[in-house]
Amino acid sequence: MPLIFAPGGGQTPAPNTIETNVTGWAHCGDARCPGYGQKPAEGIRTIVEHTIGSRGGDGIFVNIVENTNEYLRFSDSADIACPDCGKDREISLQERPVYPVITGFPQLGLLQTPQFDPSVRNTKADEDAALAQAEQNKRMVELEATVARLTAALED
Ligand SMILES: [Zn+2]
Repeated sequence: MPLIFAPGGGQTPAPNTIETNVTGWAHCGDARCPGYGQKPAEGIRTIVEHTIGSRGGDGIFVNIVENTNEYLRFSDSADIACPDCGKDREISLQERPVYPVITGFPQLGLLQTPQFDPSVRNTKADEDAALAQAEQNKRMVELEATVARLTAALED
């Protein structure tokens, strides 16, 4: 049994580590990318079992598993990059569920909102502000013409 150094100076048995090859599901982390859909990918599943002994305990409970951690990674690091955008992909053992669209709204609808366009008026207040701005611009043009006329009259 391999030993590791424990806090306080002693040595304790290392946690049990079990690695298996699995076929998982890979997807791009960017929901806007075409690679967001899951595709099968080869991965390595690592289970780390922390025993009472590996946590510094002793006695008859030393081999009892206290808790486990599960890790999953790509078998081949070349599979990490998204083939569509190049960003890192994620791998999972679970196929993403597809729920029925009972609301009538698309499931990725929030990602499909149009880009911000400042010329678009959404509310009555936006429309009123735009009309007020147009009126002010018109008055400014009239005022400039008046000032030009008066300046020309003074110079005569
Ligand atoms: Zn991508």
